Amino acid sequence: MTRPIRALLNWSHLRHNYSLVRQRSAGLAFAVIKADGYGHGLLAVARALADADGFAVACVDEALILREGGLTQPIVVLQGAYHAGEWQLAAEHDLQLVLHHPQQLTMRQHVVLRQPVSVWLKINSGMNRLGVRVNEADALIEAIQNDAQLQLAYVLTHFARADEPHSPMTNAQWQLIMQRSWPVPISACNSAALLGDYGIDDAVSRPGIVLFGSSPFQNCTATELGLLPVMTLESQIIALHEVLAGEYVGYGGDWQTSSDRRIAVVAIGYGDGYPRHAPTGTPVWLEGVECSLVGRVSMDMITVDVTDCGAAKVGSHVELWGEHVDIDRIARLCNTISYELYCQLTPRVKRVALSQP
Ligand SMILES: *Cc1c(COP(=O)(O)O)cnc(C)c1O
Repeated sequence: MTRPIRALLNWSHLRHNYSLVRQRSAGLAFAVIKADGYGHGLLAVARALADADGFAVACVDEALILREGGLTQPIVVLQGAYHAGEWQLAAEHDLQLVLHHPQQLTMRQHVVLRQPVSVWLKINSGMNRLGVRVNEADALIEAIQNDAQLQLAYVLTHFARADEPHSPMTNAQWQLIMQRSWPVPISACNSAALLGDYGIDDAVSRPGIVLFGSSPFQNCTATELGLLPVMTLESQIIALHEVLAGEYVGYGGDWQTSSDRRIAVVAIGYGDGYPRHAPTGTPVWLEGVECSLVGRVSMDMITVDVTDCGAAKVGSHVELWGEHVDIDRIARLCNTISYELYCQLTPRVKRVALSQP
């Protein structure tokens, strides 16, 4: 038998979530599927979203995986070219590159491109990560427009605090962008800006996390937003024990029983990407009952109190998150966000499609 950990992937739910955000978008919606499709599998996610208006990935390497996989939709590379050779790769494979720094334009002048490349100019509207300031944009727009090998397609900006309810900073960032006119349409919204009802009318939105059925907000669940979970992470019970009152469970003796308990050992741990910081009390779903993780998370296993789950047996399927346990609950208990939980799943977790790709 092989290790029983699987990430079951429901592509119908992915398509449901995409069409929900597509309806909320003022214009097109490019599916953001960087970091191996938020851990769900880059090519599989892209293939399941055959009707998407386009895709956004972090780097040229990710974009090439999509092209080699036969995808023909528009692809924008959010960090653009890292070196001159990537401009040529973009030309050869019809990739659109974000230009966020004048240095990238200098690199571009070191190569003669096989065909023109579409460029998205990134504007720093207050996040102070990537992009040029509004008052530096004109010089770059002129340089791009004077370059016969480049085609300015969009300007884009990114919001720092759209996940906070009605954040004034998001409105301020959008005002800064809207204060002037641009020669091309604008791309602005991430998941939170789209579903946070800021009323931002951009030409291309860039939803990521919501496609996978997680909420971008602290105070609003994915279910309340009408989203459906794509991934169900599951494993199995591999041992069951009676632990007497006053005994300790796991490394460090972190958890001591106050009465006799029935403890299940489940084959999943931080070596699979399950968060090591999941505290005692973190929900785990098995045999129709929500049980609690107890004691420390190990590399290959966790321990679960199944005293109140009479049906628990060796071989029982255990859901760590997904259909019955909202991943956002787990993330909050671990002081992180669902994005990180998805991205840190290791190759040991088999990705299994539940519905037609
Ligand atoms: C990752 C990313 C997104 C998507 O963000 P979500 O919060 O997952 O919707 C959009 N735009 C840029 C520039 C990004 O880097």
